[in-house]
Amino acid sequence: MRIDLHTHSSVSDGTDRPAALVHRAHEAGLDVVAITDHDTAESWAEAERAAAEVGITLVRGMEISTRLGHASVHLLAYLPDPTYPPLARALADILDGRNDRVPAICAKLQARGVQVTEHDVRRRAGDAAATGRPHVADAMIAAGVVATREEAFATWLNPGRPAYIDRYAVPLEEAIGLVAGAGGVSVVAHPWGRSRVLTPDHLERLAGLGLAGIEVDHQDHSGAVRAELRGLAEDLDLVPTGSSDHHGLGKVDHDLGCNTTPPEQLERLLQRAGDAAAASRRATPALLVP
Ligand SMILES: [Zn+2]
Ligand SMILES: [Zn+2]
Repeated sequence: MRIDLHTHSSVSDGTDRPAALVHRAHEAGLDVVAITDHDTAESWAEAERAAAEVGITLVRGMEISTRLGHASVHLLAYLPDPTYPPLARALADILDGRNDRVPAICAKLQARGVQVTEHDVRRRAGDAAATGRPHVADAMIAAGVVATREEAFATWLNPGRPAYIDRYAVPLEEAIGLVAGAGGVSVVAHPWGRSRVLTPDHLERLAGLGLAGIEVDHQDHSGAVRAELRGLAEDLDLVPTGSSDHHGLGKVDHDLGCNTTPPEQLERLLQRAGDAAAASRRATPALLVP
């Protein structure tokens, strides 16, 4: 049983339509795939139809942009009711913030001689729920300014780089509460990837607030980091997950199924999702089993 719990479609910053992503997951030999676009459930309906067609189990999720102090933390949410008003409002605020910063980023780029316009960026975004930095990066690639998205981020778009603009993200603790209120479960994505914002003490506190798991097996984590996080998950009774964080052609070395979640860990996660759904009394999306 091969389970990949973190993938992106073109509704956020992946390159495959949700249906194509699900088809690829099936072709890659996965039995279970979660679709987790950034801050939106807009990809779910198309993914559901494709999952039923190819006969793969679909976990409906999203990756929420949160912050702890000034640092950014990604929170995976599985099986939340996206119509739960406080969650829906938070997601709308995040998407608005992402859309709204595009002109400011373009202005900063232009001030430094990089000729990328808002129109160029919006055109690159295609059917995404929000236009964001990955699309700015794509416009920069098209203009010949950089060769890859990674280069665009590292040179221009990341915090501390010349064209970085801050935006709204939900406070992390609040986001965990919103996901629980929506009857879903939350898992911190790649916690010790590019930066170590979350300390073991933070994770312990978040576990007390209802955090269900930690993404342990992720391409941004070395073997040593994975071992350390796995131990921490065990100590804190958090579910360790493994995922590709696949973005289609938008991110190299994140092939579907390159990391997977053991079936017994998915089982634990689903158990907690069931408890959260019962406590919230929301009509939450079920695991979609063919
Ligand atoms: Zn992430
Ligand atoms: Zn992701």
